[in-house]
Amino acid sequence: MAYQTTNPYTNEVVKTYPEATPAEVEAALAQAQALYKQWRNDPVSTRTPVLHKLAQIFRDETDSLAKVLTTEMGKLFVEAQGEVILCAEIAEYYADHAEEFLQPRQIASIAGDAQLENHPLGVLMAVEPWNFPYYQIMRIFAPNFAIGDPIVLKHAAITPGSALAFEDAVRRAGAPAGSLTNLFLSYDQVSQVVADDRVQGVALTGSERGGTAVAEVAGKYLKKTTMELGGTDAFIVAHDADMAMVNSIAPRARLYNAGQVCTSSKRFIVTENHYDEFLASLKQAFAAVKLGDPMDPTTSLAPMNSKKAKEKLQAQVDAAVAGGATLAFVHDPVDSDGQFFLPTILTDITKDNPAYGKEMFGPVAQVYKVKDDDEAVALANDTNYGLGGIVFAGTGDYGAQLASRIETGQVYVNTFFSSLPELEFGGVKKSGYGRELGREGISSFVNQELVVKRDKPNDNEFGGLVLPFHLN
Ligand code: NAP
Repeated sequence: MAYQTTNPYTNEVVKTYPEATPAEVEAALAQAQALYKQWRNDPVSTRTPVLHKLAQIFRDETDSLAKVLTTEMGKLFVEAQGEVILCAEIAEYYADHAEEFLQPRQIASIAGDAQLENHPLGVLMAVEPWNFPYYQIMRIFAPNFAIGDPIVLKHAAITPGSALAFEDAVRRAGAPAGSLTNLFLSYDQVSQVVADDRVQGVALTGSERGGTAVAEVAGKYLKKTTMELGGTDAFIVAHDADMAMVNSIAPRARLYNAGQVCTSSKRFIVTENHYDEFLASLKQAFAAVKLGDPMDPTTSLAPMNSKKAKEKLQAQVDAAVAGGATLAFVHDPVDSDGQFFLPTILTDITKDNPAYGKEMFGPVAQVYKVKDDDEAVALANDTNYGLGGIVFAGTGDYGAQLASRIETGQVYVNTFFSSLPELEFGGVKKSGYGRELGREGISSFVNQELVVKRDKPNDNEFGGLVLPFHLN
């Protein structure tokens, strides 16, 4: 596996990077472990100023940082700028709130003055994907840096430049060496790092395939994990939905980031009274999309991240059509060698179709017609995944009732799906487990150490057994 930056718009190979040597891996782990031991004694407030500084770097250098993203994985420059700003906001959020979130919790107990303290857990291994190359790192870095957990990073093989740019920003923000160490690791080396006794936790964002492989190793070595995996998110158009709102948001919900978002709306589930209008509107919107240079502000759809990803998606569309799905729309061809995937709409996907329940990671919309809202919820739940979702309904309250019936991690009602620092992010079923961002996002890799104190032993205690005393 080569770590390589290849511009998916021009196909230029920009740079290739050698894999980490065993000595580099050992040095990174030793340094991270030493930092963890030191950080155990340092309060959270010693680290939060670094997060403020990191946020400032992301704000001051938005364009140059964004250009790295566009060059490596092709996203629209304007979307790359948005990602960089979001990273600044996440860093600021944990800089401002980490101390409060990590306060010890007092517990009323007959055993004594009890409190649950939040300490660092130790060195973490983070395995991250290419689709939001900075944001994915920031989601794990900011909260865990505040806690005091050093991170060893394995980024996607196609985004090595983003990994290095992020690591460099962290260093320039004043974080001590070892806070975040990027290593160009092979899969075997990832397994070795996960197995290492100095590593206490593993956070992976990626596909079900990658998650399963890494979680298996982590399970073998009893390492705590969070898994942020793929999805087949539903976009439900309920019987009383406002179609003007639906039609303006649905295309973006599928095409943002060239459709390469874990929480992209991948299945549009539309009640029959709205179906014809919805399909006509989606076709019109997909037809109006302008594919082109991602640096050009007039371009509205970027190339996919790589030739490999494009070919995989094409194979999925071909299999869907061979399996009986209707190719309801394909965008006109573009005159470019870039890795563009033409926006596509599939309908008539039956339960036995190879595309049913499968994640299609690119600008391909699956559209389903259902009788009513109950059938929409049932179809939304008929998947092994459960990451996000969108519901459009006549009122926010009714939409929220439908949302609560969906087996998934997060649902937005009558609005676009967005990820913000204060909102917990994560899934259920094969979309993974654990939460990043928000208050929960800082709790995954803490040692919740219980300390019970008294000035002298309790008179009724015997043999240190609290349970019989409690039952007295
Ligand atoms: P992927 O193949 O699983 O890759 C993700 C990361 O895992 C990469 O760094 C990859 O390295 C690494 N990896 C994969 N297999 C591995 C193994 N056996 N051992 C060690 N490392 C391994 O995912 P992807 O297809 O590139 O990314 C897209 C997927 O991520 C989609 O399914 C998407 O829905 C999901 N995603 C989920 C979230 C979320 O928050 N839930 C967010 C974004 C994306 P290499 O690049 O070297 O293969």
